Amino acid sequence: MTQPASPEATAPAAPLWQDGWYRFARRLDSPNFGARPAGACIDLVVVHSISLPPGRLGGDEVQRLFTNTLDWDAHPYFQSIRGLQVSSHFYIRRGGELWQFVSCDARAWHAGASEWRGRSNCNDDSVGIELEGLEGDPFEPAQYEALGALCAAIAQHYPIAHIAGHEHVAPGRKQDPGPGFDWQRLQRELGWPQQCFP
Ligand SMILES: [Zn+2]
Repeated sequence: MTQPASPEATAPAAPLWQDGWYRFARRLDSPNFGARPAGACIDLVVVHSISLPPGRLGGDEVQRLFTNTLDWDAHPYFQSIRGLQVSSHFYIRRGGELWQFVSCDARAWHAGASEWRGRSNCNDDSVGIELEGLEGDPFEPAQYEALGALCAAIAQHYPIAHIAGHEHVAPGRKQDPGPGFDWQRLQRELGWPQQCFP
């Protein structure tokens, strides 16, 4: 005897990833991206911190920066970054809210001059995740939860073997996320082996 299938059983589940876009992120397209090099092996996650101006939390300046809509005259600090065209794949707010600006299949502009695991130009083959916060300061439990879940989801879809901070891939030039970021906590959250971490 055949049971009639319920609509829930027959409807295909929405995929976690579609063209490099993560189902559980709020999407806001950035124009700041390019193609990855042919054959790029996306095996690295780069963790950053950001707040604009530095130390101010809760505004929409980061989303504006990544979409080239920041008012450069709105704060004296913005003079120092006027015209900057950058992006990251993801942005995690203090409460854990997740945004995505660039498809992970594409190359976001977050790491700059960088080198890790013997390869340079980390933008070519990494996924960039920005945490809302000031480098050196602590981050929120909700951010670790969101970051852990996101990294696990990324690793389901891409051959991630390494995770490092911007400070590790661009030493001397960058200090984020800094000493306030708890790498051991992230490692516990993910359960990945020590050699994946900086
Ligand atoms: Zn950074």
